[in-house]
Amino acid sequence: MENERDAVVNEAPKKRKKSLGRQCAAYGCYSTFYKTDGLPSGLHFFRFPQKNQEKNRWCNLIKRLDGRDDFNVTSCTCLCEKHFTDSDIKKLPNMWRLNKGACPSLNLYTRENIKPRPSRKSPKERSSLTTSASTSVVDAKGPGKLTSALLSVVDVEDFGSLLSPSDIDNACISTQTTFSFVHLPLYYSSEDDQQVQSKYLQDIPEKNDLIEFCTQYESLSLKAKELSSSVESLKQQIIYLENQIKFLKKTLFSFEKIAQDDSAVKFYTGFPNSKSLLAVFEYFQPKLGHLHYWRGPKSVNSTNLPYQQTTEADKPGHNRILSHLEEFVFVLMRLKLGLFLNDLADRFGISQGHTTRINFLFHELPPLFPFPSQERIRKDMPDQFKDYPTTRIIIDGTEIFTEVPSSLKSQSQTWSEYKHHNTWKALVGISPTGCIIFVSKLWAGRVSDKELTQRSGILNFLQDGDNVMADRGFDIADILPHGVSLNIPPFKGNRKQLSAPEVEETARIASVRIHVERAIGRVKNYHILDGTMSLSLQPVLNQIFSVCCLLTNFQPYLVQPSSKK
Ligand SMILES: [Zn+2]
Repeated sequence: MENERDAVVNEAPKKRKKSLGRQCAAYGCYSTFYKTDGLPSGLHFFRFPQKNQEKNRWCNLIKRLDGRDDFNVTSCTCLCEKHFTDSDIKKLPNMWRLNKGACPSLNLYTRENIKPRPSRKSPKERSSLTTSASTSVVDAKGPGKLTSALLSVVDVEDFGSLLSPSDIDNACISTQTTFSFVHLPLYYSSEDDQQVQSKYLQDIPEKNDLIEFCTQYESLSLKAKELSSSVESLKQQIIYLENQIKFLKKTLFSFEKIAQDDSAVKFYTGFPNSKSLLAVFEYFQPKLGHLHYWRGPKSVNSTNLPYQQTTEADKPGHNRILSHLEEFVFVLMRLKLGLFLNDLADRFGISQGHTTRINFLFHELPPLFPFPSQERIRKDMPDQFKDYPTTRIIIDGTEIFTEVPSSLKSQSQTWSEYKHHNTWKALVGISPTGCIIFVSKLWAGRVSDKELTQRSGILNFLQDGDNVMADRGFDIADILPHGVSLNIPPFKGNRKQLSAPEVEETARIASVRIHVERAIGRVKNYHILDGTMSLSLQPVLNQIFSVCCLLTNFQPYLVQPSSKK
């Protein structure tokens, strides 16, 4: 076997020709199924009619006689599309057919008025070639050989072109993609060879099968062309969509994007940098598992929208679920930037029914900032307070605007003469270093500073020897606990002006009292407190205000603690 195969290979002509497949039978037409580079020419071929009358008509039209001059009309003899008008041809998606009675009418020449085609070898020579190709079918081993041999039989016998198995191998390689669609086994392992070869060898001699095979191959290769072009356009589409995803990811907000930029972290969250934010988050993380959500004002006053009550999958829009860290940042951004929930939901790419966790912070933040002991305060007393070494707390009132309540009673109670607006009022107390160590509940704006101080509960924290620093309005000396002194700027009273030492004293107190205003300024920098608070926010306003106050404590000291220890 080995030797015989070698012999076949050695016998192959040295000058290699490409397989051209079908050729047109018309004089002067050199159309072939394959181009010389082995790729399909894309031309369509039509077999001669089988009925004698029609067949002879075609022969007359192409000026050739059946059985003369090496011209024998077989079931494989064909004419190319160049000889038919458009109306002759029915162009189906996978295959072209001739309409009934269609005859060649274009590009027809006689033998005399064209240069004859290169002469073909005699039938005897051709039949010997066929035999040699058939031998190679039997003998060839290894991938591709059987197929090529099979094809060579098709071409040699039916189309009379001169080729060797290796020619067709080349053709096979160049049309590999399209050819793999044909439902014939292309490759065999050597163990299967005997079996498979005998199976297909039995099929080969049937010319009709071969014709069928060729037409099928033609239509499949066309189909493959179409498919590969649609694959190409789909690839383009994938690239486009991948770019879209990249672009959309860029437009979504994420903490990772700002984490490296301290000023951005401060702008979005109020924390001075991502390190401090992550430290606080890590502290909270174990407690974040089981929480009640704050669904925004809507859920407080009204029932949820239908989609908010259904499962996650039924909600419109995105179904993205935020990580705990993202939720934490979400809440911080809501407070710091005062963004609407819908706006935040869009930035984070989540459904608008999303929720924030304000109550969680309201309960978890205060334990982080217990009211500091007298000892602690005095130990950290900044140098600026050297004239007021017993200062325990500096207090001030602050107001936030609210919508006008509907009830007349509430309207008058929230009216602030000082601000000329309906307000909520709170008492805020800082340590000498500027930390917010006390935040009262919100009271209706009409409450006086004295009443606010008394009812806030701050007095319970004060001890013998403490000093409370406040603004002039805090006329609270008589309500302070025993042993607690008050430090407020001197009153002018009925006098025209303060004495010189009094002016000096006022300035000195103001220079340290200013820190409570700076601390409140930090709180007001949480823009959720901007403008006029909606009445719908009222149920969570205490929580919001208190959390904003305590969050400012994660910022650096307003006044550096004493370096002396
Ligand atoms: Zn032609």
